[in-house]
Amino acid sequence: MAHGHHHNEEENETRSSLIRIAVAALLLVAAVIIEKKTSLETWQLLLVYLVPYLVAGFDTLKEAAESLAHGEALDENFLMSVATLGALGIGFLPEAATQFPEAVFVMLFFQIGELFEGIAEGQSRKSISHLMDICPDTANLERDGELVTVPCKELRPGDMIVIRPGEKVPVDGIVKEGSSSLDTVALTGESVPRQIGVEDEILSGCVNLSGVLRVKVAKEFGESTASRILELVEHASEHKSHSENFITRFAKVYTPIVVVAAVPLALIPTLLGGQFSTWLYRALMFLVVSCPCALVLSVPLAFFGGIGGASRKGILVKGSNYLEALSRMDTVVFDKTGTLTEGVFEVVAVHPEIIEEKELLHLAAHVERFSTHPIAVSLRAAYPEEADDCIIENVREESGKGISADVNGRRVCVGNPAMMEMEGAGWHPCEKTGTVIHVCQDGTYLGHIVISDRVKSDSAEALRALKSLGVARTVMLTGDHEDVARAVAAEVGVDEWHAGLMPAGKVEKVEALLATKRSGRTLAFVGDGINDAPVLARADIGIAMGALGSDAAIEAADVVLMDDKPSKVAVAVAAARRTLRIARENTWFSIAIKILVLLLAAFGVATMWMAVFADVGVTVLAVLNSMRALK
Ligand code: ADP
Ligand code: MG
Repeated sequence: MAHGHHHNEEENETRSSLIRIAVAALLLVAAVIIEKKTSLETWQLLLVYLVPYLVAGFDTLKEAAESLAHGEALDENFLMSVATLGALGIGFLPEAATQFPEAVFVMLFFQIGELFEGIAEGQSRKSISHLMDICPDTANLERDGELVTVPCKELRPGDMIVIRPGEKVPVDGIVKEGSSSLDTVALTGESVPRQIGVEDEILSGCVNLSGVLRVKVAKEFGESTASRILELVEHASEHKSHSENFITRFAKVYTPIVVVAAVPLALIPTLLGGQFSTWLYRALMFLVVSCPCALVLSVPLAFFGGIGGASRKGILVKGSNYLEALSRMDTVVFDKTGTLTEGVFEVVAVHPEIIEEKELLHLAAHVERFSTHPIAVSLRAAYPEEADDCIIENVREESGKGISADVNGRRVCVGNPAMMEMEGAGWHPCEKTGTVIHVCQDGTYLGHIVISDRVKSDSAEALRALKSLGVARTVMLTGDHEDVARAVAAEVGVDEWHAGLMPAGKVEKVEALLATKRSGRTLAFVGDGINDAPVLARADIGIAMGALGSDAAIEAADVVLMDDKPSKVAVAVAAARRTLRIARENTWFSIAIKILVLLLAAFGVATMWMAVFADVGVTVLAVLNSMRALK
């Protein structure tokens, strides 16, 4: 609702300033005709031209006066006000031609420029909110056996809703009846539909394509995926990039310097025998040309567009500063499980000691009951009857080692050799390659389960793409066994790998890499958000992938990849580079044109008309260029 309101206001503003500009333009034409047809005194002419001047420039004059009164930094409104008031005044100097039409024109054109910027910003905001048009307004709620249409905000966890084909999923939930395919393109940028059925999790922002679904609400509207993503993108522009901060600071000192510099430009040549009116005119032109609008507006707009364009591809960048950091990526560190590999383990062997094979799987699945770790998910899947009435208490995850719990009063530990040592259980290695998960009960070794994971289909491609983008170093870190790590590293082609690391060890490795990266470059850590929050935080850029539905990962990361394709890291880097290139183009282009016109002005070739074209024209071109970042 707040959105719709905002848009209307913006549209009204655009319309009223359009009308103002049109009226001022007509009045200017009328004034020129009056000047031609009659022979009015200079002061009478001034009154005639003041009408269109004030219609066009009243707001600008008011804002300039207000910021002056508040002792704020001089801005472009002030520059324009001084320049045009000066141009109006020149006509009263002896032996000077009047510049009334010029003054009105400069003000008019400045307004056209402002209007244009307003429209451009509105456009890119709109296309972001359009691509983010993923929150429906209403949902079909089941109440007393009937379907009623209610605003999404009224849905509570536990409610049952119905989603028909073609409708957007309003809140996160669990499918209780029906099956369908979901279009997740708004969230992930992937257009391949996702099949879902009973008991599957379903996320807000997807579009239901085929079947009718009965869904149990799991999260309120504000807590659901779509709302959280929207919130994230909207706040992203608050985290300013270096270039934006630089421009803000630059504009603060720049404008006063320009104003002060204009004074000697008018006075010194006059003292050396020049004509005052000529040099005053040039000084005023200098003020118009020096207006920093093009930079002040187009650079943040480029970043804004870059963030919007990235989110269209399923890459959420939490701030312009991270876009900048991505473009300067030098080292990229990948977590293994769930990042370079699928994180979907298959059991390849069960080697029990003392107990039955089935009993070993049973115990392991029980201990893993509440864990979200990919290993846990797979061990539960290997023992489908897991949810029986055994009593599971005191569950404790030992990050990077494994997990322990009391099953029917007996302490069972599941994990790697480090976990077994901690329990004092006599474990032994397995001849099979794969991730070996050991199990012990009350300190007695019960055997192990060998599971193995597949490398993601685009991991190797992702590392090649990063290399070709000039990323110097690719590293893989894992808590898994050395043999598994070596095989995966060879398959995907990383430069360097380290195995057997605890979470703290991963932080240490990242710190060592941070210390040796090229200066001015950045290090990114890419993880799945499960037990790697400390590394995500320590890296220059923390990238969480497959984050769809994982709150913790969205929280901890700087960049969130909505699907779980490592190749998206390269896409993100390329998009960031493009955005920075556009921002840089704008900066140099506007500076170059301005210097050119300033030189022409100093030699007396340029006119006020050219000056205002140089300012507004450059702004318009720069803003248009910025909009490319959205594509
Ligand atoms: P990675 O670095 O590959 O992402 P983790 O740091 O998550 O791996 O885990 C490292 C090792 O700790 C795993 O290879 C496994 O042996 C053990 N481990 C971690 N969590 C669990 C768990 N929930 N169940 C069993 N073993 C676990
Ligand atoms: Mg992990």
